[in-house]
Amino acid sequence: MIFWVRGAPPLAFVHLLISMSVLAVATLLLLRTQAMGSAVQFSERRYRTVFDSLAVAIWEHDFSPIAAELRRLRARGVADIRKYVAEHPDFVVAMRGLVRITDVNATALSMMNVRAKEDFFSHLSGFLPETDDSFAECIIAIDERRALFQTEAIVVPMNGEPKQVIVAFGLGPDACLERVPGSILDVSHRRLLETQILRTREELAEVQRTSALAAMSASIAHELNQPMSAIHSFADAARRWLARDVPNLLETSRALAGLTQGVEHARGVMQRVRSLVGEARIDFAEVELDGLLATTVALMRREASESGTRLVVVPLSEETLTVMGDRILLKQVFVNLITNAIQAMLNEPPNSRIVTLTLERREDTAVVTVADQGPGWDGLDAGQAFGTFFTTKKNGMGLGLAISRTTIERHEGMIFARNAEPAGAVVEVVLPLSLPFDAAALDCGLHGGQEEVSV
Ligand code: ADP
Repeated sequence: MIFWVRGAPPLAFVHLLISMSVLAVATLLLLRTQAMGSAVQFSERRYRTVFDSLAVAIWEHDFSPIAAELRRLRARGVADIRKYVAEHPDFVVAMRGLVRITDVNATALSMMNVRAKEDFFSHLSGFLPETDDSFAECIIAIDERRALFQTEAIVVPMNGEPKQVIVAFGLGPDACLERVPGSILDVSHRRLLETQILRTREELAEVQRTSALAAMSASIAHELNQPMSAIHSFADAARRWLARDVPNLLETSRALAGLTQGVEHARGVMQRVRSLVGEARIDFAEVELDGLLATTVALMRREASESGTRLVVVPLSEETLTVMGDRILLKQVFVNLITNAIQAMLNEPPNSRIVTLTLERREDTAVVTVADQGPGWDGLDAGQAFGTFFTTKKNGMGLGLAISRTTIERHEGMIFARNAEPAGAVVEVVLPLSLPFDAAALDCGLHGGQEEVSV
């Protein structure tokens, strides 16, 4: 029985009220936790159903070790992760080793020709080729917590040919980096068709080039034939007039005049041929070299990945380097140099097939180097390699370096070849920078003076 004095509640009653309130709150919390638990379970079940039944292959990744490494880098004072990644290819390789695949769905198993998940995980390292330069961009996407990261990569199924795939991840701020599902779309068939079309087009272009060249050579030979035989007969006549007992100087000089006419005619033919072939028009505009190199590398990525070559761009200069030039012609120069570098490394072991492009400022010039790890210019005269029609390749035209040199010289630049240390070839392109007008420098006559680079 509870007693209380009028005006003041007894202590036991207060205790009872407090206990009952605590119990009510605890029950409420318990009910809420249960409701949340079943919501989580429901969502997990739904995720599993989607994961297991999707016709798209899904690999679930744990990127948290990379996020931890990036935090460590920032704590060490590294502010520009993109630059750090470009300058430290070893870091990219190490980061790639830290990524764990935590789960895969049935479509992923059949894509990789394996029956069970145990087989998949025991063979995991064999599925990914050693070179994968798209991973550098993935590290940057993790750092930026990009909502969608998409890239092309290559996977090697068990007992099968490498497949070209498109990988897409959601890495936004809400994503749980311990469990990032990546959808993998097999595009090998489409790429194969594209490559075949490209090859056919290239073959066609080559046939057209060769036949155009043959037709042109035949017409030059035909056009030159007449003045050459005239020159020959006038020279012969002059020799005969001089060889007489009494040399006939009048006839000799007539023959020599005919010979000179023949030479003039031949020169005219050559000029006509030159004007027919014409020189490519140059559309001069400001070109930012870092952007140009990035688009060139993107253009060459497919060719590089087909031969297992990594393309690495290392900007050595903080500032944007701008030159006056023709974007298309300059891009063609770097396409030629990268193609040569890729081809030069075809007999090298896959993990040393790396083409490194550097961009730096040297005084008032921008210097782009294209370096490979192939045999270098050994046994070859690098100067000779820049000559027209010089080639050591079975299907080579011997025009790439010659055209590159002409293009760079028309941009008032220079191009050099040298051997790299410890191995490989380097081609260096030096272009005058487009600088803001500096009246003071003009007054002091501080212009010109490009640095000579060794060949
Ligand atoms: P092509 O590629 O059709 O042979 P190029 O003018 O581009 O014509 O190259 C001429 C030659 O220079 C090549 O056949 C090759 O012998 C040599 N060469 C070019 N680039 C390299 C390189 N990066 N490493 C070694 N040799 C090279």
